Amino acid sequence: MRFDSIKTATNRKNKFSAKHKVSFTELYKSNVFDDSAMRDFLSKEAYESVSAAISNGKTINRKMAEHVAAGMKRWALSKGASHYTHWFQPLTGATAEKHDSFYEPDNGKAVEKFSANALVQQEPDASSLPNGGLRNTFEARGYTAWDPSSPAFIHENTTGKTLCIPTVFVSYNGEALDYKAPLLKSVNLVDKAATDICKYFLKKVTSCTASLGIEQEYFLVDEAMFNARPDLVMCGRTLVGHAPAKGQQMDDHYFGSIPDRVFNYMYEVEIEAAKLGIPLKTRHNEVAPGQYECAPMFEDVNLAVDHNQLLMDLMDQIAHKHHFRVLFHEKPFAQINGSGKHNNWSLITNTGVNLLSPGTDPNSNMLFLTIFINTIKALQDNADIIRASIASASNDHRLGANEAPPAIISAFIGSKLTEVLEAFMNDGTADNTGDKKSINIDKIPEILRDNTDRNRTSPFAFTGNKFELRAVGSSTNSAQPMTALNAAVANQLIAFKKNVDAAIASGIDQKSAIIAELKSALKSSQNILFEGNNYSDEWAAEAEKRGLSNIKNTPEALKAYISKQAEETFVNNGIFTNEELHARYEVMLEDYAKKIQIEGRVLGELVYSHILPPAIDYLTSLANNVKSLKDAGLKAGAAQSELIEAVSKHIDAAKQKTDQMIEARKKANAMDSTEEMAVSYHYDIKESFEDIRYHTDKLEQLVDDKNWQLPKYRELLFIR
Ligand code: ADP
Ligand code: MG
Repeated sequence: MRFDSIKTATNRKNKFSAKHKVSFTELYKSNVFDDSAMRDFLSKEAYESVSAAISNGKTINRKMAEHVAAGMKRWALSKGASHYTHWFQPLTGATAEKHDSFYEPDNGKAVEKFSANALVQQEPDASSLPNGGLRNTFEARGYTAWDPSSPAFIHENTTGKTLCIPTVFVSYNGEALDYKAPLLKSVNLVDKAATDICKYFLKKVTSCTASLGIEQEYFLVDEAMFNARPDLVMCGRTLVGHAPAKGQQMDDHYFGSIPDRVFNYMYEVEIEAAKLGIPLKTRHNEVAPGQYECAPMFEDVNLAVDHNQLLMDLMDQIAHKHHFRVLFHEKPFAQINGSGKHNNWSLITNTGVNLLSPGTDPNSNMLFLTIFINTIKALQDNADIIRASIASASNDHRLGANEAPPAIISAFIGSKLTEVLEAFMNDGTADNTGDKKSINIDKIPEILRDNTDRNRTSPFAFTGNKFELRAVGSSTNSAQPMTALNAAVANQLIAFKKNVDAAIASGIDQKSAIIAELKSALKSSQNILFEGNNYSDEWAAEAEKRGLSNIKNTPEALKAYISKQAEETFVNNGIFTNEELHARYEVMLEDYAKKIQIEGRVLGELVYSHILPPAIDYLTSLANNVKSLKDAGLKAGAAQSELIEAVSKHIDAAKQKTDQMIEARKKANAMDSTEEMAVSYHYDIKESFEDIRYHTDKLEQLVDDKNWQLPKYRELLFIR
């Protein structure tokens, strides 16, 4: 299998010809029921009703929904769609769809139908999707409901087209069973909270949106070699494999020229993404061999998340066409960089002001500082919640290990802004000394312009006009961390406003009240600010002194979802109920345990049926060699004996440790609560994987190459 796969991968022809002329401006949004399609296919009334729903959340009445459904159907049929589906994001991490055909038999003929009912609400038979106990069997129904703020689109497969309607997914009692429903609530919350703050400074602002640009990292592996690795097929990552002699130490892959076959793949992804209105903007090689990145222009957070989920689907689908497999796992290869999703986040007003971008006058800089400092304070108070929102079995390989960024949540703001904040703090106080005072806040834009220091090691970095949450996993649905961030910032802005208003009511002028409150927020946020190297041991020690959490595993991290802070940030603001939080906690623990369980099973199988057999064969051939030398009256060399000893030793150890791991799994499976099970899967099982791997990787080095079954790292990473 291994040599066949190498041969197949080596002889690939570039199927896709990117030579033909493509007009991206013509393709852009051609498969989206966007504003211009709505104008063409909806009556004026129906169009206005959808527009009002999009811009200020107005509900669409039944009659209008009927009109919208009719227009959407005409549009979809004109595009060649045969089926429609509600498209949603259950807690599995993947997207879900259940297709219905437009046509129905009617009096012996087929008639195309699509009613308001079909548009607005569906009841997918979803009892097998994770719900964390929210759906008792007698209320097993789950409903999907139309989200007009994310436009419907057409998904093309090789042979057919489907109209997809973005929806939320809720239980019979209205509890969220997906990622989108809480995200939309957090979007409204932060909109209102930020708009209220803007009122102090800019009277014309009537709404604010959270904006998000997601950089997506991924690996590409040839399909033939992927298929020859059961661990990649089943777990999305390699569980064994010796590091290649050359990895990423030469730094020759980052921003290097893109291999032709990969370029063709990227180009087709870009074409299909353009049709769906996903505004892909950048593409490049990443640090590790076989690793790449793409990023779209930022959009409203809800749309950006939908687009990222859709993009991952597209990338996977198109990879198959090019005989690649795309790996979104956070750590597909040991000792080589993993993949993340950088979530660039900001708040933008309906008047077009980026609230995290310093303005041109003192008033707008005060507004900037208000949002900036409150965001930092929100992180200070909600660091554990942010950590929990990105926790998963696969992201633990980055956050818990020696990988960027660490599990310690902190914020980087750059040396210039640090000075600005210091000056701001000292202004008018007793220790207002030196020239720091001269940094006036209306100078912030000029100061920032040449502020080039960028800290790539920080989990939450300010990059000039946005914060970049870099700790999100490459496979994570960004809705979850963005829900947490929106809610945390909104919660802080609400508290801030309450205090400012109270001060104003007591007779203090608005400006002084805001400054006093900002100083107090900043003072209590000092611990979360860190400008140094986040990978260093010194930082881990320093963070501990500061009392910052350093939570290295998922079961531990997830506890933040059922903490007192979660109640304040989520429950009190109507983002989640306590029941929903507990359900989510349960679902995520279970997901964790299951993922490790699958990895444990696959590792057991690899050791027993892929690694020990060639190792034992090799051992036999060594022993036979010694015997024949002796039989021929020759002296058996010391080399053979040493090899026999080394190979036997690792065979024994690999088998023994695998057996122990299998026993530990049986114990974990018998545990009563999901919590105990997840904890045991972490400490008793997952932690033993490295031990097993040490011996199998030694065997890979020792055993005759021609007998080794599994494609090696150098082949997986360098052949394309
Ligand atoms: P880098 O690799 O230097 O971080 P990229 O250009 O790869 O930068 O990605 C930056 C991302 O940040 C893009 O998706 C971009 O659209 C997004 N972005 C820029 N400004 C904002 C903003 N105000 N709000 C949210 N995202 C933003
Ligand atoms: Mg970035």
